[in-house]
Parts: sequence; structure tokens; C-alpha cells
Amino acid sequence: MFEEVKKKLICWTKEENIKENEPMKEHTSFRVGGPARLFLSIHSCEELSKIISYLSQENIPYFILGNGTNILVSDEGFQGVILYLGKEFSYIKQEGNMITAGAAALLSQVARKAMEESLTGLEFAAGIPGTVGGGTMMNAGAYGGELSQVITQVTAMNQKGEIQVLEKEELDFGYRKSIFKKIPYIILQVTMSMKQGNQEEILQTMVDYQKARKEKQPLEYPSAGSTFKRPRNHYAGKLIMEAGLRGCEVGGAKVSEKHCGFVINTGEATAADIIQLMEKIQKTVKDTFGVDLEPEVIRL
Ligand SMILES: Cc1cc2nc3c(=O)[nH]c(=O)nc-3n(C[C@H](O)[C@H](O)[C@H](O)COP(=O)(O)OP(=O)(O)OC[C@H]3O[C@@H](n4cnc5c(N)ncnc54)[C@H](O)[C@@H]3O)c2cc1C
Repeated sequence: MFEEVKKKLICWTKEENIKENEPMKEHTSFRVGGPARLFLSIHSCEELSKIISYLSQENIPYFILGNGTNILVSDEGFQGVILYLGKEFSYIKQEGNMITAGAAALLSQVARKAMEESLTGLEFAAGIPGTVGGGTMMNAGAYGGELSQVITQVTAMNQKGEIQVLEKEELDFGYRKSIFKKIPYIILQVTMSMKQGNQEEILQTMVDYQKARKEKQPLEYPSAGSTFKRPRNHYAGKLIMEAGLRGCEVGGAKVSEKHCGFVINTGEATAADIIQLMEKIQKTVKDTFGVDLEPEVIRL
């Protein structure tokens, strides 16, 4: 079947943009995951429009990959098409207090641009390793900030390949949630509004947050950041630690001793190890405290 799909895709994109059986461990911060049957880099909205309407019409499974920092791909891989937005989608433009960025731009680079322009509001995002697209989908946040506080408009493509502009009120933002978790749009571009601030202070805040991350988070190991969402009135890491799971291991997956909210890959973890450890954590925390931990990490 995928030979046929590949032939069709070549009508709209160059063959060199399509990889077959691409190991997803190369594209995820967890450094695990089997092969994606087809891995396609996208270089224009026109080609994306044709490809997305074809894949949707034919019911061919597809998945939009950002920087792969919040996903866990199974060891079997993905029997479908991974769509990866290329450098044409990583522009960052500033006009007055507004920044407009392509979905593939890194949040760290957008935060840097904001700092260079003395715009405040995005300092919290400097250390989040995702893209603008992935961050918007997740409503990524840290240190009391989240992207919903600055986003005013999103340009996205629907499954028919049509481009739509969504205003803030339509984005249904909540804690680690947005409309994009419910409706399969592809985010193309995001506009953010910030305030004028003091450049030195903005830079200092970014440096302080980075320092705090290095001290508190196991950045030296592959992970997908916080494995679980913050349960109401609790902190996932604290519950996991108090349930006695600090340093708990399954194969190459381990509860970080530095920050129990992170499951890390100590080197040779499989996705199955990580999933088994996550299930063990969920069961132990539920049995000990009666609290349900919901994964933040998206499984593919
Ligand atoms: C060390 C570390 C620290 C982290 N710290 C934080 C933190 O402080 N706060 C926080 O919120 N997160 C944090 N994360 C998690 C992660 O970086 C964020 O969730 C980030 O926003 C994910 O972006 P991404 O581009 O990597 O998305 P991916 O992981 O590639 O994808 C995540 C989801 O977004 C979807 N997606 C990606 N691009 C698009 C698009 N263009 N259109 C539609 N859907 C899209 C994907 O299909 C998937 O469902 C951390 C991760 C790591 C590894």
C-alpha cells in the first residue's frame, strides 16, 4: 500500500523529500521509537494542501511532527506518514509588539527574538525545546507563563487542505490543551502579542529560568520533559517521590532522581520500558494517594 502512497506523493513533492522506514528515535527527544513507514518533509503550503487532502480522503494515517520533544513513539514504529514542516516554516517576523512565527520555528528562537526586540511575555518559553506548532498545540508553559497568554491568532490548514485563520477566542486554550487536540488542523503560523519591556531584565529572567532548569531537571538524559500533567492541587513529581518511586527502573527507563516528574532514558530504553514504567507509576500513585496521573506525553 505505501508503495502506492509514495508514488502518489511524488506527484506533489520531490522524491528526495520522502524517506522510507525512517527511525523515529532519531527525531524524538526520548531517543526511542521504531520506523515511520514514510517520513515526508514539507516545503510549501501548496504541496501540504494537496498532500493533506489526499491522505485524509484516502484515510491514510498521518502525524504532524514538531521537534519531537513531547512524543513517545512505539518500538513498532508508525504505519503511516509523518509530516515534518521544513525550514520554510521556521521564519520569525516582528512588527511593533507583535511577533509572527512559522510553526517550525523553535520556541527558544522566538523567545530570543522577543528579547532582542525588548518585548516581554515569552521569557518562560526560552528553555522549552519544542516548536511554535507543537507548543501551540500543547499550550506549552513554565514558571507561571503559557503560550495562550501571548497568542492572538493562528493560521492553520484543515483536512481539506484549506487555510483558516483562527482568533484567540476560538483556540479553546486550557492547561496543556487547545482546540488542536480535538480538531486535526495543521498549525502553519502563530501571531503573538507582547509588551515593551526592559531588555536587560528580560534577558536576566531568561538566564535565571535556564539556570533553574539545569539545577532541577535531568537535562543530561533523553526525556520528553514532564511525563505527566500536573494533577489538580498536587505536583506529579512530589506524588511520585512520596510514593517511593524515586530512581525506580524498568529496563532502560528510570524515574529521574533529580526530578521525579521526569521519566528518563538511561541509554538503552525501549518505548515498551517507558510505557511499563509509566503504568507502574500511575498504579502506585493511585494506590497510595488515590490520584490519577494523566500522561502529558503523546503516544504514537
Ligand atoms: C527537557 C524538556 C523540557 C521540557 N520542558 C517543558 C516545559 O517547561 N513546559 C512545557 O509545556 N513543555 C515542556 N516540554 C515538552 C515539550 O517541549 C513541549 O510540549 C513542546 O511544546 C512540544 O513541541 P514539539 O515541537 O517538540 O512537538 P512534538 O513533540 O513534535 O509534538 C507534540 C504534539 O504537537 C503536535 N504538533 C506539532 N507540530 C504541529 C503543527 N504544526 N500543527 C499541529 N500539531 C502539531 C504533534 O502532532 C503532537 O501531537 C519539555 C520537553 C523536554 C524534552
